[in-house]
Amino acid sequence: MSDSMYQRIVVKLGTSVLTGGTPRLDQPHMVELARQCAALHERGREIIVCTSGAIAAGRERLGFPDVPATVTNKQLFAAVGQSRLMLVWERLFEIYGLHVGQMLLTRADVESRRRFLNARDTLLALLQSRIVPIINENDAVATEEIKVGDNDNLSALVTILASANLLLLLTDQPGLFTADPRLDPQAALIPEVNDIDAAVRALAGGSRSGLGVGGMATKLQAADVARRAGADVVIAAGRAPDVISRIATGEPVGTRFPALETPLESRKRWILAGPMPAGFILIDAGAAQALREKGRSLLPAGIVAVEGNFERGDTITILSADRAPLARGIVRYASQDVAQIAGCHSDQIPDRLSYTYGPVVVHRNDLILL
Ligand code: GLU
Repeated sequence: MSDSMYQRIVVKLGTSVLTGGTPRLDQPHMVELARQCAALHERGREIIVCTSGAIAAGRERLGFPDVPATVTNKQLFAAVGQSRLMLVWERLFEIYGLHVGQMLLTRADVESRRRFLNARDTLLALLQSRIVPIINENDAVATEEIKVGDNDNLSALVTILASANLLLLLTDQPGLFTADPRLDPQAALIPEVNDIDAAVRALAGGSRSGLGVGGMATKLQAADVARRAGADVVIAAGRAPDVISRIATGEPVGTRFPALETPLESRKRWILAGPMPAGFILIDAGAAQALREKGRSLLPAGIVAVEGNFERGDTITILSADRAPLARGIVRYASQDVAQIAGCHSDQIPDRLSYTYGPVVVHRNDLILL
């Protein structure tokens, strides 16, 4: 993929990168990472940082208390460390005149369609306002059932959420090797992986790095998810000079996993493969033409009737006035609200509903023509 395609980039920074293998946050190195992100931002790119290090920062802040490694204690460290971590990122990005916005996610935020839309709206709003989103798992409250568990997989979910073009997994290794480079002097870096098959998985083994949670195995899982969602993925050393800038401008650094399709194709496939439509929206001839021929979003003005009970984030089928299926898409308002705004101009949404999720009922990017 050419450099210019890397418009939206998720940079995942593992604990090992942030601490340099020590028990403390390495702020001189963090400022260097912030500088690289800021330089790309300056050139018009959109950067999303997925940061680990909350638990490590909490331990450091509390003076490394000698307590058992229970889930609750880790959550306690995360609660203390997350605000510390954000304070550091906030200060470092401020040096470059950039605002940051914190988002703490769990698996549930990405898996439920409604929460997916909410999280995505916030993320996109931050990017649109040129604020750097800084994302971590909500470790302090995430229980076994709702947590992603490692930030490699979290960053892949963020890549889907953002429809990003590049996921950079920065770690303490230069990439994926043919053997463990710490044990085998013949081990060579694999520059590109096109198939994440059993042989490739075997190379990752159970490799782990110090304080972090993931290893190569979770990086491969994340790479697999993200490339299916339309992003190129690169695993590289977070301490290599100018690593973020070099990869973002297409230099072959680390191990690259080319995307399998575009983010838009992947989104559309996701809509088609999704659950059975929860309801129908009937539209008039003008709206049908706007969808079919002009590639527009569905606005309330063209809606004639609503059938079924659906929630914001559900998949619905759009029917023409003669009930022919026109499109399938993810709806941004619940059925009773669509019924209330049907036929009205988008400007009237706040009056009719006393809130608004924006002017469109089904956005173009969430819609496929049938
Ligand atoms: N969310 C964890 C933290 O901030 C890190 C998880 C990981 O390293 O994968 O401490």
